[in-house]
Order: sequence, then C-alpha cells, then structure tokens
Amino acid sequence: MLKSTSAFLLFLSLLCACTVKKKSEKSLLRAALGTDSQGTCERLLSPTEYRNLASQLLPTDPLVVVSTNDLHGHADERIFNLKVSETESHSVIVGGLERLESYLTAACRSAKGRLLYLDAGDSYQGTALSNSTSGQAIVDSFSALGLMASTFGNHEFDFGQDKIKSWLSQPTRTFWYVTSSVNSSNDGKNVPWSELNAPRFSRSVVFNIAGIKVGIAGYTTDSTAVKSIPDNIKDISFNRLDEVLLNEAEPLRKQGAEVTILLSHAGGACDMKMPAEHGDKACKESDADELGRALRAHPNAASQWNLIVAGHSHSPQRHIVAGVPVMQTSGLGLSMAHARIKIHKNTATTDLQDPVYLCDQHFDQWNGCHPEEWAWKSEKIQSLGKPKKPSLLGQFINKDEGNEVKAILEPHRNSLKSFMDKNITSFSSELKHERTSQSPAAACLVDAWLSHLRISDEKWGEFSSKNIDVAFLNAGALRSGISSGSLTWGRLFEIIPYDNTAHIVSLTSSELISFARAHESSPHDYLLASEGWAVRRQANSNPSPRTIEVKRISTLPIAKQKWTVAISTFSKSFLERAKIESQVYDSGLSIRASIGSTLERFKKNINSCNTADSSRMQIVTSGNGE
Ligand SMILES: [Zn+2]
Repeated sequence: MLKSTSAFLLFLSLLCACTVKKKSEKSLLRAALGTDSQGTCERLLSPTEYRNLASQLLPTDPLVVVSTNDLHGHADERIFNLKVSETESHSVIVGGLERLESYLTAACRSAKGRLLYLDAGDSYQGTALSNSTSGQAIVDSFSALGLMASTFGNHEFDFGQDKIKSWLSQPTRTFWYVTSSVNSSNDGKNVPWSELNAPRFSRSVVFNIAGIKVGIAGYTTDSTAVKSIPDNIKDISFNRLDEVLLNEAEPLRKQGAEVTILLSHAGGACDMKMPAEHGDKACKESDADELGRALRAHPNAASQWNLIVAGHSHSPQRHIVAGVPVMQTSGLGLSMAHARIKIHKNTATTDLQDPVYLCDQHFDQWNGCHPEEWAWKSEKIQSLGKPKKPSLLGQFINKDEGNEVKAILEPHRNSLKSFMDKNITSFSSELKHERTSQSPAAACLVDAWLSHLRISDEKWGEFSSKNIDVAFLNAGALRSGISSGSLTWGRLFEIIPYDNTAHIVSLTSSELISFARAHESSPHDYLLASEGWAVRRQANSNPSPRTIEVKRISTLPIAKQKWTVAISTFSKSFLERAKIESQVYDSGLSIRASIGSTLERFKKNINSCNTADSSRMQIVTSGNGE
C-alpha cells in the first residue's frame, strides 16, 4: 500500500513537473541571450576588416545605434526636388535599401564595428514589391543588412497571423523579433505564436555588441487592437506602454545589460528646429503622442531606459522626453535615426544625433539632401555649392556596397517591372490628400472606386452592385496625394497600399450617422465619402473627440431611408463599434484594382475630380481624355 501510495505521489509529482514544463514552454523568454547572432558589422564587413577595426577599438569608444521605422516596404530610392532658394534647386535621390546598406557599412567603419542596427516596425505593408512577396523581400533584406532586432508594428497584423508565423519560422532570418507587449488574450502573459519555438523570437533579448551588453525590448501600439482587421488580431491582447516601460527594463539589467533600449512602435511629434535637450517643449503633448504621454506619466523611465527607438507617428524625433532619449525617422526608408551611447563607470549616457538621410549626393556647403531636413536644419545656408560624393562621419559612401541587398531585390523588381511601370492615366496637376478634412485626391479616388463597383455587375445577397448609393473609405486608407504627371500601377500601390476589399452593407440614415460618429474618438480617423455626400468634422474640441457629420447633397433622392453602402475591410470594425448588426458582404473586389480600373478608362490629363463636396462624380479631363 505504502509502495503504491509513493508510486502514486511520484506519478503526481511527475505530472506536476510535466505541467510546469509545458507551461514554461508556452511562455516566451524574457531577456533571451542573443549569443548565436552575428553583429551588424560582422555581417556587413569582411572578417579581416571587422577584426582590424575591432583591434583598434578602445573601451571608451561609444556604441553607435542606428535605426529605421515605418519602412512600409519601401525598398526603392525616390527622387525629390530640393528647393534651396528661388534660383537654386536640385534633383536629389534619397533612400532605398541598397543605399541603406552602403550607409550602414560606412557607419560600421566609423564606429570601429561597435554599431547596432534596429528597426521599430511597420516594415512590410505598403509597396507592390513588398506586398507581392507578403513581406518576404524585406525580411530577407533585413537579414542581409545586419539588422539585429525588430518589433511588430500594427501593420504587421495586416498580413494575418499565419504570415507572422511564417516570418517567425524562417531559419534564414538572422535578426530577432522581440515583443514585450503582444499576448495571447487567454492569460495576458504569453505570445500566441510561442508554440512554434521559432528561432530568434523572444519577449526581449540581450546582445554583446563589441564588448557592450545591450538589452532590447519591444512594444506594439495598443491601438492595434482597434486599428487592425478584427480577424487578424483574434485571440490577441496588447499590454499598455506604461506596463512595458515599468516591467521590461529590469529583466534585461538582471541579464547583464549595460544599455537598455525599447523598440517602441508608438511615437510622438517634435519640432526638429529645437535641440534634443528641449524635448519637453519641442515634443508637444497630444492625443497622438502615445509615447510622450506614457513617459511623462512614468517618473522612473529615465533611470530604466537609455534609449527609445520610436515609430508609428512617422515624425522625425531626436529629443529627450521626460528625461528619456527618443529617436525616430519620418519612415519610408529615407533616413536612419542615430545615437551614440557612452559608458563611464557603469553609467550609460546617450547622445542623440540628427537623423542621417540616405543621399546619392552631398554638397560643398551642406551634408544633406532631403527637403525635410532642409526645412529644419539649414536656414542660414544661402547656397549649397557643387554636388559631391556623400559621406558619413568621415567615411565615403561606396555605392557598390549595396550589392548584397541588390541581389535579393532585383529578381522581385524584374518580375514586377512591367506591372509597376504600366501607365494608368495622367494628371495635369497635383491633387493633395488631407486626412482630416476635404481631400481633393480622395474626391477622385473614392468616386473612381464607387464607379467601378457600380458597373461590376455583381450580386451579393440581396444587393446588386448597380444600386450602391455611397462609398466610404477611412482617411488612412490613402497614404498620399496624386502627383502631377503619369500615374502608374506602382505609384497607385503607394497611394493605396492596403489590400482591402469592398464590403457591402445596408444602413438606415441613423445607422449611417452612428457609423460616422464611431470615428470621432480618434484624432486621425475621418471618412472619405463618394459623390453626393459630404463628411464634415467640426473642430469643436482639441484634439479629439470631434463631431463628424455625414450629409447627403441635394442631388440625391431625399426620401430614401435605407442606403446601400460600400466600406473597406478595415472599416468593418467601426460598424461593430457603432453596434450595427446588419449583415456585411465581402465583395472580394480589391479597392485599389477597382480605382485603377476606373481611372484607366480616362487615358490622360485628368484635371480634377471636381470639388470635394458638390456635384461630384465628374472626372474632368482637358481635351478628349476618354
Ligand atoms: Zn504603425
């Protein structure tokens, strides 16, 4: 009996051990040791060059941290016009991942190999090249660039969790994904994909960068919970930023980190004309400043975090906010944020630098190229002088040192080229996009969308496509205006990067109002309406909520009480928020393809699509456009 009792107890204890073990397998490691990872410069430089540089390194030399954020799939360089004065302007080429590789290589030389490259998320959604590979082209490029760690932005969820799992599972990926805030909603502690046992995936990680131990955690804006397509964030919850700030630095310190960095896919907006140390004035508190609000509310953040690499707000930052150094770029791969961290007597001090724009040329009088940095940096320079070869911290940029990334991207570019370059139509003048008021670009594009839906001759449940009354797009669905000149499919992809489809729903007038009002609490969300309807947002309180009104314009039949409405996949969540339970049909028709198809019917010289809120749906061309 005794024997069988002890056997039973042994069985129980084994069962307990088993259960405990199973539990620990499910939760993701905090402060994992990234000892199997090559450093950024080990990856980018030859072994001989790396060893030579390392032999010159002094213990007092700083750790250089550079970062990108909100790349949104922008692997290609872009051309800008840099206007210096009425008489002087330059055409400059900025960005592109090949140029990033050559800049990182130069930065490695200047830092004698003690350099760390990080990314703060929203990396894949936004260009045909990236989207057509479901982000794979960028994942592969990140590995080639010597990226050490990235975190998830809200737009990573656009691709669905299966795609996130496939990024995580790839053995060829050499950088880490860290996420200290994404949880399976069952218990609020575990990351849902931890069962994959994916390599280089943890809540946070500690690297040894040329002798300095650096701990890195990751935060995904908790607004992802309301900004994502609901199915894509099923069974997921998000910790708040203040919880991450409070809880995630200490485990890194315990694991030996001398420097702690948070990759925060939440940022603010700062006046770049003001110096770093005036951050509390330069970075105004607002509803959109998720990071600034959390830092100001958390008195110990300055003693816990040496640097925050921010993203999401697409605003250049290099400011000390509530005592914590924060850096961010405006995104789209045009620049990298830059800081230097020195360690003296176990204390790390961060020196924030201006972002480094990735230029194809510099000038005798100025080592810059982008109109954005010209606006905040160079008031006193009257003329730029002659172009010269770009350099970074005394190292020339060698264009050929972008070849590893080029070898990854070229096959994707070639297979897309004929589609990307295909002309849709042309515009005789620029149509700007405003996210919070009437938008001339939206007037054109939303009408074009509705026009295509109506002629698509489809039926969904009780709905017929030709009876759709109005189309609404959330303002963020369009990422920029329409420039003058030709509009290619590649460019349309940048304007409408999301792969949303038209959803059809029937709404009463009062439901329509509730749907619009569901957007009021967000400072960014605003509706773009098609012909015959006007949306107005009153600035009756600052910055939010604001009253959003939806009105019919007199040209439509007034007596009608029920409206057949087209909305995007994304906007479905606003129906839920407005507690509208009507059946919604997914048409499966791509919004971007529909718009392109309408505009293609107008071969050239579209002047405008009329004013935003009167007698719309007249695409005006100069001459015989159609
Ligand atoms: Zn974002």
